[in-house]
Amino acid sequence: MTTATKPSPAHDVPHLAAPDVNPSFTKGVFLGEIREDLVFPFPVMSAEENESLRMILDAFRAFAASSIDSAKMDHDGKFPDEVRHGMHELGLMGLNIPEAYGGFGASAKVFNRVFGEIGGTDPALTVYFGAHESIGCKGITLFGTEEQKNQWLPKCATGEIVAAFCLTEPGSGSDAQAMESTAVLSDDATHYIIDGRKIWISNAGYAGLFTVFAKVPVTIDGKLKNRVTAFIIDAHSEGITLGQPEQKMGIKASDTRTVTFDKVRVPVENVLGDVGQGFKVALEILNSGRLGLASGSSRGARHILSEAAKYANQREQFGRSIGSFEMIQRKFAQAAAEIYAADSAVMLTSEMMDRGHIDYSLETAACKVFASELAVHAASEAMQIAGGIGYSKEFPYERAMRDSRINMIFEGTNEILRALIALSGLQQPGERLKTLGSAFKDPLHSMGEISSYIAGRAKRAVKKPEFTRVHPALSKEADRVAILIHSLALAVESALMKHGKKIMERQFIQERMADAAIGIYMSTAVLSRTTWEIERVGGVDAVKPELDCARLFLADRYRQVKRSIRRISRNQDERMKAIAERVLETGDAAPTGPTDHV
Ligand SMILES: Cc1cc2nc3c(=O)[nH]c(=O)nc-3n(C[C@H](O)[C@H](O)[C@H](O)COP(=O)(O)OP(=O)(O)OC[C@H]3O[C@@H](n4cnc5c(N)ncnc54)[C@H](O)[C@@H]3O)c2cc1C
Repeated sequence: MTTATKPSPAHDVPHLAAPDVNPSFTKGVFLGEIREDLVFPFPVMSAEENESLRMILDAFRAFAASSIDSAKMDHDGKFPDEVRHGMHELGLMGLNIPEAYGGFGASAKVFNRVFGEIGGTDPALTVYFGAHESIGCKGITLFGTEEQKNQWLPKCATGEIVAAFCLTEPGSGSDAQAMESTAVLSDDATHYIIDGRKIWISNAGYAGLFTVFAKVPVTIDGKLKNRVTAFIIDAHSEGITLGQPEQKMGIKASDTRTVTFDKVRVPVENVLGDVGQGFKVALEILNSGRLGLASGSSRGARHILSEAAKYANQREQFGRSIGSFEMIQRKFAQAAAEIYAADSAVMLTSEMMDRGHIDYSLETAACKVFASELAVHAASEAMQIAGGIGYSKEFPYERAMRDSRINMIFEGTNEILRALIALSGLQQPGERLKTLGSAFKDPLHSMGEISSYIAGRAKRAVKKPEFTRVHPALSKEADRVAILIHSLALAVESALMKHGKKIMERQFIQERMADAAIGIYMSTAVLSRTTWEIERVGGVDAVKPELDCARLFLADRYRQVKRSIRRISRNQDERMKAIAERVLETGDAAPTGPTDHV
């Protein structure tokens, strides 16, 4: 048994990945290192957290059983007032607002578990809860002044004020920097005048408060530049108009609208964070918000497959239950292993948030990408298991497919998050090579630097990182994850040497690097969780369900990650590019066939 020792604080351990900033497990992976102190031991909740969580879950489940009719809310396209008010009365609107401002002050572990429970019950209701707490008023908790916190948070905590987050615009979705909303200081410098149009705003119809992003003209080095700035705006201010609720594919009960700001006067005291720092504010908010989405997605997957399991037991074809057919069993087995991985990673990342001084931005992105894709796939598999009734509106499967799909799109699309993981991961290996690049410009005076790089590379190629805290029952699997980390770092270095700065444009490669990093993080979370499970009960026999899921997941992921890494250098990229460009140029998704001209 290995993991009993208490880790030193994350910031005391030297590491390659930007030693002077908060450490990141995944950024370390791009350099071929394993920061075990960030991922072991697997987190457990304190007795107090367990007690709070049990109380909250019991209360929410009782409320859900008596008051939440998801099929009706989906049909009506709105929440009955008693559902929203029930959420408020349960204290859920203030779950992660600090106690000092009237909230419950839940840890990230408790918050994300509750998020998951709501997500597994009704995804539209999670958007009500998440748009308010994860992104709507989160900025005030993170960046607000004492006055701002005292003014807004207590009312947000009770649900008297519902919050919404206004970033997206017609011309600016993934590219948030391209926003056109403006905020101009009034002549007497007491107010900003906000103009602009925000679209797809969740909770807009109920909102009492908007966290809004707009560009403020600021003078930098004598030049006038527009800089994104965050504002807290009273939703009832003059000049704000709301569009009609959007007619959506899923999460129909969630209220989504356009919000137009026409010369809205906002007191200067309502700037959130510093003028010009709005982009940072938005990124920080979304960073933590994404983990909730991952938790909701994973629980959603679990919920719909549990429904499918009941059906598979009861439905008989060919004289036996459909659950006895191996093609149906394969779907349950794979999903169970992936849900096990997603839950482990959400818990591990929540702990990083709770510990503080850890950069978890790539881990929250990894969890969101993995869990949102899992939820969509799980809903599709559950529908397939249900056969014809899966396609009927009378049953929950088709709704699960519609509801789960949004998670791949909002709070950073999965493409943008994969680019974020790859490009952030590449930053430090890139800097190391840049230094080397300058050294080669003056090789005579840089021999020391060049030879130490070459020696370092030779050493890196030979010396593989190791997991030392994984239970021996999983040592073979742990060695394989370590091999993947080593191979990824070498592949990253080679790709950087080959493509240089042009790697920024090579998204085929970025996607594979991100997929490898995501697979490695999920695998590491599984190693950590399963080690903890084994040690908790003192042996492997009592944790067969967990161990089976772990082994299946680790074996599958090993193959997938290995393939992603291999394809960083051996691929069909030129051909893929040519095909895609042809499709885009002709507007025809495939070559003309013999019957097309008929
Ligand atoms: C139901 C719903 C609720 C929402 N709630 C909110 C909310 O409360 N507040 C808010 O501010 N916004 C909200 N949004 C907006 C959401 O965050 C955006 O839709 C999302 O960020 C994508 O922006 P877009 O729709 O403009 O797509 P685009 O940015 O136009 O992207 C279209 C496609 O291109 C891809 N793409 C774009 N750029 C790149 C790139 N550089 N590399 C590779 N691929 C790229 C995207 O991944 C996507 O697949 C909501 C959206 C919906 C549908």
